[in-house]
Amino acid sequence: MTHDYDDDCIFCKIIKGEIPSYTVYEDDDVKAFLDISQGTPGHTLVIPKTHVPDIFAYDADLAATVFAKIPMIARAVRDANPAINGMNIVNNNGEVAYQSVFHSHFHLVPRYTDQDDFKMLFKDNSANYDDAKYAAIQAQIQAQFN
Ligand code: AMP
Ligand code: ZN
Repeated sequence: MTHDYDDDCIFCKIIKGEIPSYTVYEDDDVKAFLDISQGTPGHTLVIPKTHVPDIFAYDADLAATVFAKIPMIARAVRDANPAINGMNIVNNNGEVAYQSVFHSHFHLVPRYTDQDDFKMLFKDNSANYDDAKYAAIQAQIQAQFN
């Protein structure tokens, strides 16, 4: 695969070795390294080795290449520590969605207990929805595939 870099991108600098990282895995297509924040111990980022800002910019080939590697890396992170009982895989797209580095990345966040340092809130708004509302949203999204 050919790799495009953005000279101002911190993750491209990590790929090029201009900034150090605690790399746990890399091949021609992806790099996995410890997230500096260590939200929980073992918190790892998986990034494509080509500069792509967010999920919306992936083509099918890049998606197939990157996504194919994630389960293997997730298993390695999990198997490295017997205290890990689960894992959240998180991909933020856009500032409003908490993206702060605009080189696409997947957070592998090991989970230890429901009292560890990772939280995710899915509010249940179903009481505010009826069939017409669901169907209107469904139709709007379906129309984008035409
Ligand atoms: P996001 O907020 O989803 O864009 O995530 C960006 C992540 O990159 C944050 O969790 C940061 O802790 C992490 N990060 C930023 N700079 C570095 C770095 N130099 N090495 C490792 N992780 C980093
Ligand atoms: Zn980049």
